[in-house]
Amino acid sequence: MLNALKKFVELGTDSELSDDLNRRIRVVNMFSAVGMAATFILGFRALFAQDAFLACVLFSASILFAISHKLQSTIGAKRGSFISALVLLACLMSLMLILVVTGGNESTGPLWIFTVPSVTMFFAGFRRGIVALSGFTTAIIIILFAPDNALLVSEYSYEFKTRLLYSFITVSFLSAFYEYSRQRSYNTALYLSEQFERQARYDPLTTLLNRRGGQQQLEQELSRLQRNKKPFSIALADIDRFKSINDTFGHDAGDEVLKQVADAFRRRLRVQDGLSRWGGEEFLFIFPETDEQDAKTVIEQIRENLSAKAMLVDGKSHRVTSSFGVCEITSSMTLTTALNLADQALYQAKNDGRNRVCSASELKRKTSC
Ligand code: GH3
Ligand code: MG
Ligand code: MG
Repeated sequence: MLNALKKFVELGTDSELSDDLNRRIRVVNMFSAVGMAATFILGFRALFAQDAFLACVLFSASILFAISHKLQSTIGAKRGSFISALVLLACLMSLMLILVVTGGNESTGPLWIFTVPSVTMFFAGFRRGIVALSGFTTAIIIILFAPDNALLVSEYSYEFKTRLLYSFITVSFLSAFYEYSRQRSYNTALYLSEQFERQARYDPLTTLLNRRGGQQQLEQELSRLQRNKKPFSIALADIDRFKSINDTFGHDAGDEVLKQVADAFRRRLRVQDGLSRWGGEEFLFIFPETDEQDAKTVIEQIRENLSAKAMLVDGKSHRVTSSFGVCEITSSMTLTTALNLADQALYQAKNDGRNRVCSASELKRKTSC
């Protein structure tokens, strides 16, 4: 029983969807469950009280609540939850208007209208909720205060009608205020979590992705490779004799060099390529759907471009160079193996005299000789 209820409430939710949308879907499901059960039970009561019209209205509402639940799962999460919320609201408001007109059981029907403000605000949000509630309030005023009670089947005293209206407007204002604050807090929380997420993935000095961001990019590329079987390449770069830049010009100047190198690397990349700060003065390039030879050609251009122009370091002109290790990743390889191969190729480039590019296949040829 509990499991069936949980399944009913969770229908249409998905871990891929945003928390807010999942919450909305759950509430729509919950509301249709409660609405369906309540109108069904009240429908039977009306039937036993021999009020065929009210029973008919309540059973129809119960069916509409069930339909709105089904709509959500058949149309798809986002549109489905919107349309089923619309059906729920239309159903709830129509039912309430009928209860006000007919009086329901012993003229107590109008008391149910207090469920409308909170439900409307939740499903329609602040702005649309205000519009929907204004429309509903206008309809209630017309029904209650039409000349000669022309639109009422049940009889209410003037005092009851005015109190009902005033208290309904008060509850509507409170619900609107609550929804407004809820939306504001939600937006603030969303903004903060996006900021934290950004800070966790980016390096503040160079504004490139940091190692964590680079690692995520690598994993995305690997899953793309597993789908389309097209190999991609990576390259590790390490600035040559960076320690001596720090020692000669100071740490701040070293930071400035890191920024300038990052800019020089970034300028040369295509939009689909990835670049991250992998460590202190190490960078990782990702070249999607690119074989080792093509990646090596791009990296050669990047290397030449960096070494060709001297940089201004602490007001003095200084030539900064970098060494590179390139490796192609195929579907049979793990990321750790590929990163190790690129690192070994980089080590070889350093050993060969720095300011050069070495690829994993060149390294393999060299070691097998
Ligand atoms: P090699 O050519 O062999 O790579 O020599 P290297 O001097 O670049 O290598 P080493 O690994 O000995 O030195 C790297 C230096 O980078 C040491 C470390 O203090 C410096 N470093 C790491 N991160 C930063 C940073 O964020 N800012 C600055 N200014 N220096 C950093
Ligand atoms: Mg290093
Ligand atoms: Mg270095």
